[in-house]
Amino acid sequence: MRWFLFACLHLVAVVGSAFCQLDQLAGVGGLQDVELSALSQQDENPLGRIALALHPEDWKHAEGDHFIYHYVRTFVASRAAVEAEFNFRVVAKELEKPDLVTERKSHLYIFDRPEDWQEFQKAGTLEQWTGGIHSAGSLFLLRDPSYKFSNNTLGHEIAHLVLYRLYGSHIPCWLNEGFAEYVSRTSLASYQRARGYIMKPYSQSFASGQLIPVQPLMRLTRPPTQLVDTFYNESERLVRFLVSSDKTRFLTLLEGLAGNESFDNVFPRVYAGMFANRNDFEEKFGEYATSDYSATR
Ligand SMILES: [Zn+2]
Repeated sequence: MRWFLFACLHLVAVVGSAFCQLDQLAGVGGLQDVELSALSQQDENPLGRIALALHPEDWKHAEGDHFIYHYVRTFVASRAAVEAEFNFRVVAKELEKPDLVTERKSHLYIFDRPEDWQEFQKAGTLEQWTGGIHSAGSLFLLRDPSYKFSNNTLGHEIAHLVLYRLYGSHIPCWLNEGFAEYVSRTSLASYQRARGYIMKPYSQSFASGQLIPVQPLMRLTRPPTQLVDTFYNESERLVRFLVSSDKTRFLTLLEGLAGNESFDNVFPRVYAGMFANRNDFEEKFGEYATSDYSATR
């Protein structure tokens, strides 16, 4: 019995020290916890106050190059912070602003317990299926530390955040979601490749009858409940098509649409010499969307 007790105590000590070491390792060159009041900027976002009011004693805080982090466990946040900074750089580069520095840092709230996240979703009246959201310059994210690989949710939300900072809040839904999917899939693939894994960005090819026609797609102000996956995949495909056709024209289109110009207004100005007219553009996108992805790269 004494041996058993000793073995148990020993096991607890070993496991405890392993967690401590993991925390310390993650902290090397990573996040340094500071008091909430010591942060250089506080978050004015009401959702941020709601998040911090849930178990206020559990939250820790730290600052990185582009983000201010709020989190429960340092090792979870340190990994997310590496990815967040990586994603920020990929998105800024894709928008041809590689040296982008924003005046205010964005706040990133990292929930690492699904039950806390559910409580936050209820308190913040968020949609139940969301695993991460961008709200007026702040990010809220659920990270499950038991996942071996992360998905592209963090990169997707960071893309929204950078778009919001650079182009404001009037970007059409297809373009905002399509760009966020496109760039975050690209970013996730390069992140994994940098770690020695073979991965290329996923882009879905469609059977021709599966597509939402382009004009109704562009009029949607939110993803349609019945066709959520189609909407995200098709919008990603459309953005990929526009970016690969001509990056400079794509950025001019983005600027025009974010400035509240209609697609019909911007389109002939930006795409003169590339597409004969809107029908020609839609036809060519249809061909691209239905062709095999590996053949389109
Ligand atoms: Zn989104």
